[in-house]
Amino acid sequence: MRIGIFGGTFDPVHLGHLIIAEQAREQAKLDRVWFVPSARPPHKMEKPISPFDRRAEMLQIAIAGQTNFHVETLEKERPGPSFTVDTLADLREQHPGDEFFLIVGADCLPDFAGWKEPLRILELATLLAAGRPGWTVWTADQLASSMKLPDVTKVSIQAIQIPLIEISSRDLRRRATEGRSLLYMVPRAVEVYIREKKLYA
Ligand code: ATP
Repeated sequence: MRIGIFGGTFDPVHLGHLIIAEQAREQAKLDRVWFVPSARPPHKMEKPISPFDRRAEMLQIAIAGQTNFHVETLEKERPGPSFTVDTLADLREQHPGDEFFLIVGADCLPDFAGWKEPLRILELATLLAAGRPGWTVWTADQLASSMKLPDVTKVSIQAIQIPLIEISSRDLRRRATEGRSLLYMVPRAVEVYIREKKLYA
């Protein structure tokens, strides 16, 4: 199977995430998209984030009924920062017959060279990148040069076309804290969940 891995903090999951996942599924002909909530995001270690189970539950609610989508919670049990390369290596070991694709927003590409073992990530998965307002989707050449790779053939990026969506979890958390509406930016059931559990209150 061709499996898209979509990692993120998902605090909370929003319609931008869901549109990217569905468009990646369609455009890269993926059989499945697995949402992988980050247990301990390395770049957010200093910041407070909602408990893992709350974030995973919001994802479950958001994708309910979509048989091509799945929430993969493998990072929960792994101690230390949740590095993408470790997740992909674990998945590869658990599913040796499957082909993996890593779905990211364009804002991740300029940081990518600083991730743990970026070259190994590219060996384990093909990059799929979606546009994000304020960010252009880098070409393979741009990524290779930021990684100081002499050999660009090791890098491939498939751009996923999406309507640009200016929604961020950070903005939604702020709206929720201020008691403002989240309607139509997160699925209705996620909005209800956030209110009932008093997340971000
Ligand atoms: P925060 O505002 O808390 O930093 P976020 O909205 O960026 O969160 P994450 O869970 O950190 O959401 O993102 C997971 C993945 O989704 C990342 O690859 C990110 O680039 C991508 N992404 C999130 N929102 C968008 C968006 N509106 N357009 C394109 N990509 C997005």
